[in-house]
Amino acid sequence: MHVGVDVGGTKVLAVELTGAGADVAVARSAQVPMPGRTAADAEVEAAVARAVADVADGRPLAGVGVSAAGLVDREGRRVRFAAHLPWRDAPVRDRLAERIGVPVVLDNDANCAARAELDAGALRGVDFALLITVGTGIGGAVVVDGHVVRGANGMAGEFGHVQVVPDGLPCECGLRGCWEQYCSGRALERVTRVALGSHLDGPEVAALARAGDPVALEAFATVGTWLGVGAAGLVSALDPERVVIGGGVSAVGDLLLEPARRALGGALQGTSHRDLPTLVPTRFGPEAGAVGAALLAAAGD
Ligand SMILES: [Zn+2]
Repeated sequence: MHVGVDVGGTKVLAVELTGAGADVAVARSAQVPMPGRTAADAEVEAAVARAVADVADGRPLAGVGVSAAGLVDREGRRVRFAAHLPWRDAPVRDRLAERIGVPVVLDNDANCAARAELDAGALRGVDFALLITVGTGIGGAVVVDGHVVRGANGMAGEFGHVQVVPDGLPCECGLRGCWEQYCSGRALERVTRVALGSHLDGPEVAALARAGDPVALEAFATVGTWLGVGAAGLVSALDPERVVIGGGVSAVGDLLLEPARRALGGALQGTSHRDLPTLVPTRFGPEAGAVGAALLAAAGD
């Protein structure tokens, strides 16, 4: 059996898949807390091994795929940098292979999510696409000719730090006006806090929006509009036929996607003379990274 593991800022999620092609589904999953970004590398790797062992439950393993929330080198050997994980230029693939005792493949989480959607989800049969994950920050992947584009350093698709507002809000990366300062879970919380004068977290704002609260709906409309404006720049550059939206903030569906579609249509040239890309949710949602990692491991690439 093959297991896919997604290593995110707060948790490690491992999955085993069943089925093939469009029928791929999660058969079994296990979750352990992420030790935190100040933990030792070995603690994170032990958490990965524990999640894998929980899913395998004593059955023989053939390989493991790892989806990491960070910059992964082009060869899929090392995590170069991860804002919410301790790994810095860490040879994660080989260390995990040694620890677990089977071959390991490693890729960036958004690239893994794109692989899942290409093989079995919202991007099946789509040759030119973008995947944008809106969570704590923004992650992304670029699909050209049916393949995930890796870039010269393996770092293509890091859309979150494209500047959308000159001299805008300061970003953790050290730049100002980055897209994820306006379109993310944190942006949603900030917009709501300004409107209400009190703090609510993302899931609380989502619950209010689903219940029809006008302030929460307006907050999603603001973040959704920024999603569409930023996506328009990427669509102008890459001309995809579909843009698939994942990440925790997108769990509210059309409350985010409808304002994004309107903004996208309003920020592209020649809209009456071109086919606008469809903007749709991911099929696998928060499990997309782990699913894609399992598919990568099973394909042996
Ligand atoms: Zn930034």
